[in-house]
Amino acid sequence: MPVLVVGAGPVGLLTAFVLSQRGMACTVLEQHAVALNRSRASTFQPAVLDRLSGLGLAAPLLAAGLKVDRIRSWDLNTGHQNDLDYAVIAADTAHPFRLHLEQAALRTLLLQRLAAPGGAPVELLEQHRVEALERNEAGEGVRLRIRPAAGGDRLLHRSGRWLVVADGARSGLRSQLGLPFDGVDMPEPVVRLMLPALPEAIARQLAGVTYGRAGVRSFSALRMPEGWRLILRPSAQESQAALTDPTWARGVLVELFASLVDPAWWSTAPLQWDHYGVAQRCVPQRRVGAALVLGDAAHVTNTRGGLNMNFGLLEAMALAEALALGGSAPEMIEPALDAWARLWQSHTIHALLPRTSRLLAGGTPLDGTVAAAGSGQASSAAAPDPQESRLRLIKASLLDLNAPP
Ligand SMILES: Cc1cc2nc3c(=O)[nH]c(=O)nc-3n(C[C@H](O)[C@H](O)[C@H](O)COP(=O)(O)OP(=O)(O)OC[C@H]3O[C@@H](n4cnc5c(N)ncnc54)[C@H](O)[C@@H]3O)c2cc1C
Repeated sequence: MPVLVVGAGPVGLLTAFVLSQRGMACTVLEQHAVALNRSRASTFQPAVLDRLSGLGLAAPLLAAGLKVDRIRSWDLNTGHQNDLDYAVIAADTAHPFRLHLEQAALRTLLLQRLAAPGGAPVELLEQHRVEALERNEAGEGVRLRIRPAAGGDRLLHRSGRWLVVADGARSGLRSQLGLPFDGVDMPEPVVRLMLPALPEAIARQLAGVTYGRAGVRSFSALRMPEGWRLILRPSAQESQAALTDPTWARGVLVELFASLVDPAWWSTAPLQWDHYGVAQRCVPQRRVGAALVLGDAAHVTNTRGGLNMNFGLLEAMALAEALALGGSAPEMIEPALDAWARLWQSHTIHALLPRTSRLLAGGTPLDGTVAAAGSGQASSAAAPDPQESRLRLIKASLLDLNAPP
């Protein structure tokens, strides 16, 4: 019986790819057309690049993305800047940088690789929505009831020995498995802007990732291959105005950069604008019988720091390796899956959620390093302790969770 994977997001597709590489046949079920690429994330962390490299997936991503080897904090009121340089983790990873690239690029690559010859067969059923988990008459494994988009009232059924639940934050299978999704929705939304260029007076103050602050306002700036991504966080009181149109965002940019840029620049600057909500939630356990839950179906977090999908990709590769034991050493599969479920639930509680909560509260991966004074360049007058910087960046890059297979 094949492994059933529900959800062709990055997490489900990577699980299917590794399973196929390890000789395990699987069926991927996706409710939408797979060409509809919804992933909105932007950052690949070193831990994930290291692992993707071992699977032959990193090179095309590296060629398309932008390598960012420095994180900066910048206090616009005082001019203080503080840098964290990825050179401090050069001995810990083959990829001592963040890669900025629309993460949809990984989905596209995985779809291409899954369609190419080699590996065990992967059946990809797009526009097939999984409706229900049904009792499996065979006694073990799972049976799914599936509604094809083009099928009218026609229903399909598929049985599998294992079920990979990667159907995203709004997972329907999660509730069918009886798993709550405990946590909170943050009252403040996040506003995201994409600009093809910034005025030179601002751009020269920014590293590839900059966490800026001016009074009560904060922003993040990410350099992307196609321009600059700016993230703003309205207060709860500002939310309504912030979500109506980009006027609120343009006003904040005027306020933030008043000393650097003519306010009129922002009124005509071409920008793309959207917004999204942030939640911190997770399931209490990762395994219910034959079902294994991961990715956004298992945890959602603050997007600041770019960790949630990266974490999902690491747990997907680990899960596929554990499932592949079923092919070579069937007696090992139960303990291997229990160990996977315990380990990644523990990492979620003790690493992913605390790290992203700290970032949500306005923290940055630089917190605790010594701020250095300077108006343009980060000064080396009060350089942070390299060992402390290294440990901080290892955590921000998820390298401490990157257990080899
Ligand atoms: C604006 C934004 C920025 C972000 N930035 C980052 C970042 O920089 N770094 C980072 O690591 N993470 C980031 N994230 C988080 C990241 O996008 C998610 O963690 C990631 O997409 C989760 O992948 P997934 O495969 O688990 O779920 P999804 O991508 O949500 O995929 C789930 C799939 O399951 C399908 N599905 C759902 N129900 C069914 C069903 N019943 N039957 C069949 N198919 C179904 C869905 O259609 C979907 O294709 C960001 C998120 C947002 C919103």
